[in-house]
Amino acid sequence: MGRSDGTGATAVGVSVAGEERLLVDGELRQARSGATFTTSNPATGEVLGVAADAGPEDVGDAVAAARRAFDTTRWSTDVAFRVRCLRQLHDAFVRHADELRALTVAETGSPVSLTRSAQLDDPVAGIAWVADLAERYPWESDLGNAAPLGIPSHRWVRREATGVVGAITPWNVPHQINLAKVAPALAAGNTVVLKPAPDTPWCATALGALVVGETDIPPGVLNVVPSSDHGIGAALCADPRVDQVSFTGSTATGRTVMATAAATVKKVFLELGGKSAFVVLDDADLRGACAVAAFTVATHAGQGCAITTRLVVPRALLDDAVAATAATLAKLPAGDPGDPGTVCGPVINARQRDRIEGYLALAVDGGGEIVVGGRRPDRFDGGFWVDPALVVGLPGDSRVVREEIFGPVLVVLPHDGDGDAVAIANDSPYGLSGSVWSGDRDRAVSVANRMRTGTVGVNGGLWYSPDVPFGGYRQSGIGREMGVPGFEEYLETKSIAEPA
Ligand code: NAD
Repeated sequence: MGRSDGTGATAVGVSVAGEERLLVDGELRQARSGATFTTSNPATGEVLGVAADAGPEDVGDAVAAARRAFDTTRWSTDVAFRVRCLRQLHDAFVRHADELRALTVAETGSPVSLTRSAQLDDPVAGIAWVADLAERYPWESDLGNAAPLGIPSHRWVRREATGVVGAITPWNVPHQINLAKVAPALAAGNTVVLKPAPDTPWCATALGALVVGETDIPPGVLNVVPSSDHGIGAALCADPRVDQVSFTGSTATGRTVMATAAATVKKVFLELGGKSAFVVLDDADLRGACAVAAFTVATHAGQGCAITTRLVVPRALLDDAVAATAATLAKLPAGDPGDPGTVCGPVINARQRDRIEGYLALAVDGGGEIVVGGRRPDRFDGGFWVDPALVVGLPGDSRVVREEIFGPVLVVLPHDGDGDAVAIANDSPYGLSGSVWSGDRDRAVSVANRMRTGTVGVNGGLWYSPDVPFGGYRQSGIGREMGVPGFEEYLETKSIAEPA
């Protein structure tokens, strides 16, 4: 388990130590090649340390270990044992929460306040929730008797683990996504090979170290293979010994994952990108709603798949909406993620900053106006920063309006009534999330019901919680994470019959 320097989570200039080793078959070890790669602090650009750089041979070892653990141990059949192990894992995370908080802020650049929710504490609570679910889950259900083809039969349905799961994750909320896959997959009786994003290896190796050091989870049940090479993820998708791929990342990579997994007809679960709409109706508290829209897009520098990045407001109120949103965004400049008051931290790396700046240039070239933000602040010595930006004046078919930027950029679009607002919200290849605001609750719910997205907040209601399924329509994904559906993603269904 890594150590923090004990100074708390001041991320600009913080020094933390992380677990360098990968986890294969119960052993924390270096890559077989001996290779390592660096992990850096987005707030400074400075190297925090290194992680083992898994190669194809390490992934091969990890899959073999997971296969053996699934096929030859009691893991997949002993629910009570699994529940006990998951509770141990939950307790281990709780014991190490302070050092993990510092590590997470240093490695992801996330504001420390978010580690009290989605960046750490909530996904840890989710482990306990899924352990409770597995304990009370109806693994078998009786369908009674029937006489198909004239043969009296007693039938029942049994749910059982899929097998070896390859879990591939991004960098923006690493504990949330690692644990939202690993915990239900393990609780359901699967074994797992976790391949984290190259930007956040330590958040994943910390999980490996806790599993080895503080739980009875048997060797091979969880394997963690950080790598600088995206090809390691592809190898997991292609390996015939892997039964299921659970992927979170961009829609472009998701397509490749699906195509690679198709060769062996793997079960594929995909959580992909988004370009979600924040719809304000003409009877809403405009200023209050716009302030929330601004706060939302500034949060973690907009690096959240479900963050609403299209603000859809009544045409007649466009100027007021822009003024209110800009006023709030101006008060939320990028700041030290270790400061408890910071909402917008750095972006993850130079490539991501350049990509965001590229979209802002495209907005201006396309006739749009950046009303506030969008500049690289000069108040930091290093790191990767963009002040939250508000963009107006772009047509609905502009790339900036349609494509996921994954940064703190909010585009404003006018609507001409509820039906038009719904049409604009749904005019997207994505369908991940959304928000609707109205003075009339029923009117807001009616719009929410017509939005073709996996989640919707009504008048500020928050859906994010371990028991709430999360996922996307259209090109935002296939399947649901969290909640009962997020557990059942990792189960097969077997129907059995005997003579009645
Ligand atoms: P990414 O798609 O570049 O990478 C995600 C993971 O896939 C990484 O671990 C990467 O190494 C791996 N990978 C890359 N190429 C691969 C391949 N050919 N085969 C298998 N694995 C491969 O995404 P990112 O930049 O790490 O994360 C940002 C993206 O993730 C955004 O598009 C965001 O919307 C999305 N995201 C979605 C959700 C969700 O739940 N829907 C949550 C968080 C992030």
